[in-house]
Amino acid sequence: MEHDFTLQQDSELRFEAERDAEDVSLKLLDGKAEIFGTELAPNKQYTFLPGAKVAVFTWHGCRLRLMGKTTGTYIATETPMVMYLNTHGCLERLRRNAERATRSSDEASHARGPICMVVGPGDVGKSTLCRILLNYAVRFGRRPIYVDLDVGQSSLSVPGTLGAVLVERAASVREGFSQEAPLVYSFGDKTPSSNMTLYNILVQKMGSDIHAKMASNKKVSVSGAIINTCGWVMGDGYKSVTHIAQSFEVDLIIVLDQERLYNDLVQDIPFIRVLYLPKSGGVVTRPRNVRATDRDERIRRYFYGLKTKFHPHTFDVKFSHVKIYKIGAPELPASCMPCDMKVDDHRTKIVPVEPGNKVKHCLLALSMATEPADLLTANVMGFICVVDVDESAGVLKVLSPHPKPLPDTLLLLTQTQFIDSA
Ligand code: ADP
Repeated sequence: MEHDFTLQQDSELRFEAERDAEDVSLKLLDGKAEIFGTELAPNKQYTFLPGAKVAVFTWHGCRLRLMGKTTGTYIATETPMVMYLNTHGCLERLRRNAERATRSSDEASHARGPICMVVGPGDVGKSTLCRILLNYAVRFGRRPIYVDLDVGQSSLSVPGTLGAVLVERAASVREGFSQEAPLVYSFGDKTPSSNMTLYNILVQKMGSDIHAKMASNKKVSVSGAIINTCGWVMGDGYKSVTHIAQSFEVDLIIVLDQERLYNDLVQDIPFIRVLYLPKSGGVVTRPRNVRATDRDERIRRYFYGLKTKFHPHTFDVKFSHVKIYKIGAPELPASCMPCDMKVDDHRTKIVPVEPGNKVKHCLLALSMATEPADLLTANVMGFICVVDVDESAGVLKVLSPHPKPLPDTLLLLTQTQFIDSA
């Protein structure tokens, strides 16, 4: 199937690659166009992952050829792209101010560019807006940091993680931003509410890492950071939003699609600029089961790769060769607690886990910590998945992106499960 489309200025072609379609591709025949801020080269064939939801936007008009099985294909003339571009303009002004201040100051420390976070309910286009703003920044020669705190979707590693990466190139149309050497913390679950104390500790740690990175490099410092957040904005979720703003010393909060959240933030934190932006009509809502499938797919890609099929390694590890821990112990009734223990302490308790059937199908994070006491705030080097357990032989069968042996490190148990059907 092949269709040509002519787009007038300020319009976009929206489509969804079918989930079983491997071969959806697009060519820019004439004019200029971009996908979520990444400029398309003329006559180059771009391919898409099965299930991808895409918008090809043009500022000045263009002609496109779309090939393969797609659904929901239409041209939209109403888009919020002008507002998104103006927001980029506002961030760019702050970067220029920082640049000027750095030049005129004798101090060794650099003036800081804008740290901006995007908040709003689920499925309003938060990750997409982050991608657009980061791509525009890179096209202006900036090197911003992308921080993804959305543990449900975790675009920089497996679900259940917080990640950050320095963005040096525009996102690939098919695969998003390059994931070379991201900084990753394992939270271990898909919603912050499962252990708010731990989530806040990791947010705080990530915030101080980002400030340290910015302080060490002038270009990065001036470029600033863009932070993506979870779609959890009510009750404790709201508290989490304000905690992130404090931990990262955010300069600008962009609220997508929820005026109430915008008003609450304007009232509660008057010292931070808050901006309301509408969501794009093209953003696709994903039902719970689709989110779960997307999470599985992300884990599968972590082990099996995207472009060329990786061949992950499966090997046996003796129980005696692994040290597994988890964070968080069951809550004790207040009457049973030692008097010097705080109510929240059980949430950050580091507990050894005996290898056995209960870790089957679980992802284990390879922590950078060498001592159990450091596990709470140490970043991770990667993940393995326990595909099988032989309790009688005392052996775990694991799936790993790297060959045997496992690095001599502590393993952190996560609640994230993956059943390898390959
Ligand atoms: P959130 O981060 O708020 O959950 P996303 O940015 O992940 O939302 O967007 C949800 C889905 O909608 C994504 O698959 C994204 O590719 C798609 N999407 C976003 N903007 C558009 C658009 N303008 N047209 C078509 N699809 C879009």
